[in-house]
Amino acid sequence: MVSNPNLFIKGVMKSGRKITILGGGPAGIAIAYYAKENKIKYELFEASNRVGGNCITFEYNGFLYDSGAHRLHDKDMETTRIIKEMMGNDLKLIQVPSQIYREGKFIDFPLSPLNLLGFLGIRRFLYSAYQILASKIRTKTNIDNFRDLAIHTYGKNISDLFLLHYTEKLWGKPASELSIDVAGKRLKGLNLKTFILETFRGKNDKTQHLDGSFYYPKYGIGSIFEAFNSHCGDNFHLNQKVTAVYHSNQKITGIELNGNSINDVEDLVSSLPLGVLLKVMHPPPPKNILDLGNSILFRDIILVGLFLDVDSVNKNGSMYFPSNRYPFTRVYEPKNRSEHMAPLGKTSLMIEIPCQKNSGIWNEDEKIVIKGVIRELVDANIFNESDLFDSCIHKIKNAYPVLEKDYQTKINPIYDYLSNFHNLKLTGRNGLFAYTHIHDHMINGKRIINILKS
Ligand SMILES: Cc1cc2nc3c(=O)[nH]c(=O)nc-3n(C[C@H](O)[C@H](O)[C@H](O)COP(=O)(O)OP(=O)(O)OC[C@H]3O[C@@H](n4cnc5c(N)ncnc54)[C@H](O)[C@@H]3O)c2cc1C
Repeated sequence: MVSNPNLFIKGVMKSGRKITILGGGPAGIAIAYYAKENKIKYELFEASNRVGGNCITFEYNGFLYDSGAHRLHDKDMETTRIIKEMMGNDLKLIQVPSQIYREGKFIDFPLSPLNLLGFLGIRRFLYSAYQILASKIRTKTNIDNFRDLAIHTYGKNISDLFLLHYTEKLWGKPASELSIDVAGKRLKGLNLKTFILETFRGKNDKTQHLDGSFYYPKYGIGSIFEAFNSHCGDNFHLNQKVTAVYHSNQKITGIELNGNSINDVEDLVSSLPLGVLLKVMHPPPPKNILDLGNSILFRDIILVGLFLDVDSVNKNGSMYFPSNRYPFTRVYEPKNRSEHMAPLGKTSLMIEIPCQKNSGIWNEDEKIVIKGVIRELVDANIFNESDLFDSCIHKIKNAYPVLEKDYQTKINPIYDYLSNFHNLKLTGRNGLFAYTHIHDHMINGKRIINILKS
């Protein structure tokens, strides 16, 4: 979702000119794709040595795994069609359910009344049903934080068990300080009606919340952006870090790359994290805007990989660990998305530990972090330690913008300041500071290019 769609309407760009794109993640690539489709000139500058940003597939001794558990959500018909055309037979529709690990047991995710009944037992179940009913009766009109939304939707019991600690681990803030926007669409399924219908009639089409079916490429999520790179990557410049963005008279005039070469700019689309863009602007933005830019937070992830000498751990798409006991939130087995992700007879587990870069666990000795993860997963009977033969660790920066309760009061003045530059557009998860996904970046890419054409 785009937090402030007006950003795309302000400052129409003139046609027939070249667009400079900052960042070669999914959002920057979407701009390049639609520019090429519309025969508009473009150049893309990416700091790292590969495209895909935080949506890449790593390779390690014959194993493939993504930068966190990714799936292509079939939410925008055009995005799915384009990626299907680009990937051909390499894109598969797969069916893999996920589960939550709680109190030593697995329960299906998303939660449904029937599986909750099995998990909670009749007494706790009835009490939870009563809590949902009671919270509905005490309808709150202005729910402004995730904690209240979760309790209003699921009642206190279920929220405590499955949602609140998980969300706090993921975003690194008390749930009462988080915006309701962090819920995404996750809290939509289990309402009172489905609770009652499903309990007495079983699951049917109407009460099925979210099945485990999604598109996934044979060789990992990153191969989508490798395919885009082959299609529209002629003008992509890798290893080009943007170190300054120059402006004058409310117009972006040029960018500095790697601290030296300077390129003129006609129209600029930035997918750099919002705070990074503000910091490289020259002359610098007003102090209050810089301060706001410094105050917005991005959540980072440590990804631990464990490589196992067994064919399979289990059949889950993802395993969620809401308990505070675990530093990690999610574990996934890449092979369950595509058999090509592991050598024959072997498998791997990828463990996501959300954290803040340059603090706490981020700076911890990597061996100690890996050891801790192994101990917890072995204790939980997820795998046998004797099957483990190798491990690795990756640090993923700027994985999620932290949507605090008041984030829009920080973001809107920044948007307003940046919208004064009539040849600048923003896109991307961190570029817009919005909890967006691949299809959102494609939709934004098309929208920006349509503005440019008009
Ligand atoms: C754990 C995890 C799971 C996810 N699961 C899903 C999923 O299932 N489905 C889905 O659709 N999405 C998923 N996402 C979201 C998806 O990965 C992001 O939406 C996407 O990566 C954001 O794309 P972007 O282009 O906005 O930013 P990024 O991917 O962060 O790309 C930004 C790019 O800008 C570059 N850059 C930064 N600074 C500079 C600079 N100064 N100069 C030049 N270049 C610079 C970076 O190197 C990077 O390549 C997930 C993300 C994470 C972290």
